[in-house]
Amino acid sequence: MARITIAIDGPSGAGKSTIAKLVAKKLDLDYIDTGAMYRAVGYKMLKEGIPMVEDETLAEMLDRTTIDFSKGDTILDGQVVSGLIRTQEISKAASDCSAFATVRKKLVELQQAMGKTKNVIMDGRDICTVVLKDAPYKFYLTASEDERARRRHKELVEKGEDITFEKVLADIKERDYNDSHRAVTPLKQAEDALLIDSSNMTIDEVVNFICDRVNSR
Ligand code: C5P
Repeated sequence: MARITIAIDGPSGAGKSTIAKLVAKKLDLDYIDTGAMYRAVGYKMLKEGIPMVEDETLAEMLDRTTIDFSKGDTILDGQVVSGLIRTQEISKAASDCSAFATVRKKLVELQQAMGKTKNVIMDGRDICTVVLKDAPYKFYLTASEDERARRRHKELVEKGEDITFEKVLADIKERDYNDSHRAVTPLKQAEDALLIDSSNMTIDEVVNFICDRVNSR
């Protein structure tokens, strides 16, 4: 059977990871959450007290960093960090460090190596435009700012974070701005990516839409 590679880009809180996990299950693909990789780098920088600037210290840290996935978990330097990287503080650190060319170079190389040998679905901000430019299936998944903030707020509150909707909405707006205005590969819809606006769609509807596209070829 021909290899299946699905690339999904889109802004924060559009539901990319929820959708990608379900599509992976349905089509028996490996799910690669590239946002988790930027989160892992941001987490390590904060943990080691590395200043949020692009310098030798950061380059040295990246040289001794390994990131992998195992059974749905994100593994940083051999340790499971899945639960530790989902806070608002790490979201900000991930967004900040993702603007550094050294960080992007290292993670893009890792992601391309992961996508080379397996059937994958990969989501992020530059997957259709850079990482898996030749993927046969490309989607740009988005939703209105309010809807994305509502979903993210619900997720954080369910996890026990004490945060207002207004703060989540402000963070989403700030991350959207940072992600789409950074100098290195800013977030944008690839010309050949299919737009899915999930504001008024259920999770199942989006999953089925993507699976139908893949199955119809
Ligand atoms: O998708 P998630 O919210 O987990 O991503 C965290 C941050 O990592 C994003 O705000 C974005 O700045 C960055 N990112 C990126 N390129 C990717 C995936 C994530 O710049 N491919």
